[in-house]
Amino acid sequence: MTRLGILGGGQLAQMMTQAAISLGIETAVLERTPDSPASRLTHHHQIGDWNASENQAFLADFAALCDVVTLENEFVPPHVLEALAAFGPMVYPTAETLYLIRDKLTQKQIMAQNELPLPAFAEVQSPQDIQDFIEAHGLPAVLKARTNGYDGYGNATIHAEGDIVPALDKLSNRVCYVESFVPFVRELAVMILRGRDGEIRAYPVVETVQHNHICHIVRAPAPIAPEIAERAQIVAIKAVEAVNGVGVFGVELFLLENGEIVYNEIAPRPHNSGHYTIEGCITSQFENHIRAVLGWPLGSTDMIAPAAVMVNLLGKRDGLVRPQGIKAALAIPAAHVHIYGKRESRIGRKMGHVTVVGESIEQAERLARQAADLVDL
Ligand code: ADP
Repeated sequence: MTRLGILGGGQLAQMMTQAAISLGIETAVLERTPDSPASRLTHHHQIGDWNASENQAFLADFAALCDVVTLENEFVPPHVLEALAAFGPMVYPTAETLYLIRDKLTQKQIMAQNELPLPAFAEVQSPQDIQDFIEAHGLPAVLKARTNGYDGYGNATIHAEGDIVPALDKLSNRVCYVESFVPFVRELAVMILRGRDGEIRAYPVVETVQHNHICHIVRAPAPIAPEIAERAQIVAIKAVEAVNGVGVFGVELFLLENGEIVYNEIAPRPHNSGHYTIEGCITSQFENHIRAVLGWPLGSTDMIAPAAVMVNLLGKRDGLVRPQGIKAALAIPAAHVHIYGKRESRIGRKMGHVTVVGESIEQAERLARQAADLVDL
């Protein structure tokens, strides 16, 4: 039986494992903490820290379990992927792809070389570099940690010169770069699927709604003109080709008032903005990711209905989870409720999501919000 290794055991590994089971594939999960969301489903659960990679035997044991290794989390150092590949299994995305993506400054440089539309950006080695950037490109600007940023935790916005020192303080000890604030009218995302042989397909363009840098709602398809959607897909495809990606990639974009698309960032894995594909598309992002990394035929990325809306279930308090309201949410027949099974909640932590597939965004969003509001995690 084919065995797929997954680095990381969170909700993305859980949903990947659910898809793997349906395809008759076993999974092996490497994860730091016991009792992770994916641990309840996977055939093999190896507990350990890949950063402790001087422990080669530990990686060798994991590699021996797997035909192909993939990841659910881009914070795996590329040298760990190289080490795993040296033990035998194919590894996708590759170490080279991850190397081009994990440092956001390197990523922006690669995308600039490939002529993607980008905000102005610059390396930051000293506060003076930020000052110089502001003089050249104006305000506002966003200071970003070059590595390990997620849900906006590595970002600080600079509205005035007086914000430079607090922004550096917020991201203290992290290596940063700076870019222009993009005055977007919508945030868009496109899931791209690329096979080992370079075959490439785009899922529909979606709109993502962020509050405090965390994704709350995804509307599929995005309510934008078809020619804008087509341009967004072209930019996203170019981005994945630029890093020679294999698997599913989430590409985040900004839409400007004049209809232009600006590239924001890429995630080398299934993505929150693609969860709607589980019920909303012919083939989910998780199944297609598995098919792509295994070198199997790719599934259709078409939607099965005119609209799908996903609402994230974010933690409402800090502490042990006592789920409430799930039955009430399920009383809305169209609501698909997904609970990730995390034991601990934190305010704003992604604890689950609700998807409604329907005839229009308005109808699907009304029902999805109604169901999500009833759940308390
Ligand atoms: P993360 O990797 O933490 O998700 P992002 O760089 O995607 O960080 O930023 C998170 C959110 O912050 C984006 O979805 C967007 O709302 C906002 N943001 C990031 N960069 C910019 C920018 N240059 N201009 C305007 N908003 C931005």
